[in-house]
Amino acid sequence: MYDVAIIGAGICGASVSFLLSQKKLKICVIEKETDVSMGTTKANSAIIHAGYDPEPDTLMARLNVRGTALIKELAPRLSVPYKQIGSLVLAFNEQDLKTINKLYERGKINGVPDMQILKAEETFAKEPNIDKHIKGSLWAPSAAVVSPWELCTAMCEVAAENGCEFFLENEVTAIENINDYFKITTSRQKIQANYIINAAGIHSDIICKMAGECDFSILPSKGQYYLLDKNQGELIHHILFQCPTKAGKGILVSPTTSGNLIVGPNAEIDNKSDDLATTREGLDFVANTAKHTTDKINYRDNVRNFSGLRAISTRDDFIIEPASFSPRFINVAGIKSPGLSAAPAIAEYVLELLEKSGLELEQKENYSDSRKRIVFNELSDEEKKKCIKENPAYGNIVCRCNTITEGEILQALHSPLPPRTLDGVKRRAGTGMGRCQGGFCSPRVHEIISRELGIPFEQVEQDKKGSYIVLGEF
Ligand SMILES: Cc1cc2nc3c(=O)[nH]c(=O)nc-3n(C[C@H](O)[C@H](O)[C@H](O)COP(=O)(O)OP(=O)(O)OC[C@H]3O[C@@H](n4cnc5c(N)ncnc54)[C@H](O)[C@@H]3O)c2cc1C
Repeated sequence: MYDVAIIGAGICGASVSFLLSQKKLKICVIEKETDVSMGTTKANSAIIHAGYDPEPDTLMARLNVRGTALIKELAPRLSVPYKQIGSLVLAFNEQDLKTINKLYERGKINGVPDMQILKAEETFAKEPNIDKHIKGSLWAPSAAVVSPWELCTAMCEVAAENGCEFFLENEVTAIENINDYFKITTSRQKIQANYIINAAGIHSDIICKMAGECDFSILPSKGQYYLLDKNQGELIHHILFQCPTKAGKGILVSPTTSGNLIVGPNAEIDNKSDDLATTREGLDFVANTAKHTTDKINYRDNVRNFSGLRAISTRDDFIIEPASFSPRFINVAGIKSPGLSAAPAIAEYVLELLEKSGLELEQKENYSDSRKRIVFNELSDEEKKKCIKENPAYGNIVCRCNTITEGEILQALHSPLPPRTLDGVKRRAGTGMGRCQGGFCSPRVHEIISRELGIPFEQVEQDKKGSYIVLGEF
């Protein structure tokens, strides 16, 4: 019997597991995919928002500002790529100037630090490549970019190190609510738990309905992106937003933590659940709208298109509360943007709710709350030499685009929560993220996974279950 079962290993489930694993509890995370961070958490804008967007006095406002401050401290402690580059909301006309003033006032109420309204010349001084018709901007220096999948993976690794069990490839198919515990049926086994945290992203309404009555539903909304090569990454230095609309925060242009440039997302309401296809129409809309921000982007240097699904709910705020049928079933649902920014604060709040529902949260005497990871190309020459001397695998470059060594792949494969797929290694070590998108390094990573984890070569998967790369021996 588990004290707590967390359903879903996205950033919300990961953050809750990270905190709960530090308590004297028996906990598990149940995830339907082959790895953690395979839902919305791996496909978003990767922005840690300052917090001026959400309406004051909402959970979204409170948890965004707190989460943004927590991630600033957490990212270096977990060796997660994070850059506090600040954001600008650009005003193109008189109406936009009114909007940025409104956002500034809202940000002040929400507790966003150090914002400023900048004049056109001050905005150009920060960003010389933006459209010359801009009238001013809202500057928020606390905004940052992060690697969302690395933040999620790092928290899960620490949770695993602290004894949290991860049941991957376990799709929850039924939940029985039996007086003082739950019986959870997955595609592989039955699991019993006293408390459930429902962090199943765009499927959180389905999970809730399995256990009892559900008073919300989720309507996924797709957002499509361009990810451009590093040669476009220097064009822009901060996160550039256009003014938000009812559909969302609009099309942004921003550098990523790895030095690429990201452009997107659009907003496609009424999207079919789980449809992640990108379309010519959607991408054209993204590129044409981003031209108002800057017309200097060369889209021929695009290295990847992708899309993510927002968990838009039938309510305006995050839904983080016990279900109507049991105080021991806590919904963490409708976690649309700024869910990534808010996640560590969402976890704190979930722990408060668990305590109110009667769960005792006693801190363990010994637990980990940090993680160290070697990133070879960030080391000095002296450090590199030392590293190769201690482990010659760091002298073997596997990914030429991003200078990633075999040592870093081994580090991921022997972590407390080892990946078993090519994309799992990609999300941890960064292989296949460069210009060639794995064209060169994939066969080598494939061999290393097979060798290190003892998986037959033809059974190594690309990402999702059944995504085999080879069909048999030549
Ligand atoms: C286009 C877009 C842009 C965004 N940009 C930003 C941004 O810049 N900044 C920001 O702060 N936020 C942003 N967000 C929001 C942010 O990405 C989400 O709030 C966050 O990732 C949600 O995390 P989650 O853990 O709730 O869901 P998910 O990451 O989707 O995790 C849910 C998990 O539950 C699993 N699951 C579902 N059903 C089952 C089942 N039956 N059994 C077992 N497991 C199951 C899924 O496989 C998945 O892994 C954006 C979102 C989108 C779509």
